[in-house]
Amino acid sequence: MSQSQIAQLMDGTSLARRIVEEAAVTAANISRRTGTSPCLATVLVGEDPASVTYVRMKRARCAKAGIRSRHFALPAATTTAELVDTLTDLSGDPDVHGILLQHPCGPHIDERAAFEAIAPEKDVDGVTMRSFAEMSFSRPGFVSCTPGGIMRLLAEYDVDLAGRHAVVVGRSAILGKPVGVLLLAKDATVTYCHSRTADLSAIVREADVVVAAVGRPRLIRGADIKPGAVVIDAGYHPGNVGDVDFDTARTRARLITPVPGGVGPMTIAVLLAQTVQAAAEQLGTEHR
Ligand code: NAP
Repeated sequence: MSQSQIAQLMDGTSLARRIVEEAAVTAANISRRTGTSPCLATVLVGEDPASVTYVRMKRARCAKAGIRSRHFALPAATTTAELVDTLTDLSGDPDVHGILLQHPCGPHIDERAAFEAIAPEKDVDGVTMRSFAEMSFSRPGFVSCTPGGIMRLLAEYDVDLAGRHAVVVGRSAILGKPVGVLLLAKDATVTYCHSRTADLSAIVREADVVVAAVGRPRLIRGADIKPGAVVIDAGYHPGNVGDVDFDTARTRARLITPVPGGVGPMTIAVLLAQTVQAAAEQLGTEHR
């Protein structure tokens, strides 16, 4: 591809809409067959405005798809032990099929201990160590939602990953690490980069697929994108800015996700799809 060409946008909004529509049909079928509609429990510690907004958006999407949600707003002073108790109760509650702990929970909470209190069969956000192991071994189970959404986008645009060099910038437990193992399962050759990586630019320049999951506005520059590469930007910052410098990257990439409208809507779509799947499994009915 010549450098003057502009990359095709990977439209997460319309793919997410289709996934949510499918989840809504399945949710309605489950309700009709079992008399119980799928239910997602959302748990939020404190009142961080961004987290409040994310939970509100997720619950609104659930409502539109015929998925019930029950919200648990815990005070900012909640201890790890209290949070673990809440999550343990929800894990044992037969009326709850999926559990979402909105994070970050605050510096005083042992987030890993909290995630591990979520029963694996209700881990629809794919945050437990069990879910990570299942992703790593390509076993059935719930994927982390943002990585799962990224893989659905790559499949939708027929990106052949076998033998391609995928560079994942970021190694968080919910995003960078799991997306790397999912790319590996598709036979990509995966390199992880992080804050201690020496010469990030040189590694990104070698990438056929770049996944930016850094949390630093416009860290990945267009000049470092290999012409014809596929660029996935998971970042979101105020002003509709991602972790990639979109305007320069799109003049070199073949495919690129916009911000917003790329990865973001896919995350919620996967959450809803997995909640419906969890409900079908727990209610002993078909997932269709
Ligand atoms: P995180 O937990 O803060 O992890 C950031 C990662 O980036 C870490 O692994 C860190 O390295 C690495 N990093 C930081 N500065 C770097 C640098 N200068 N060079 C190379 N690597 C660097 O963030 P996260 O939760 O994974 O989120 C990443 C981004 O995705 C954020 O913009 C967030 O808003 C976005 N996000 C979007 C969605 C969605 O639904 N669209 C969902 C989740 C997150 P170390 O490990 O060495 O510290």
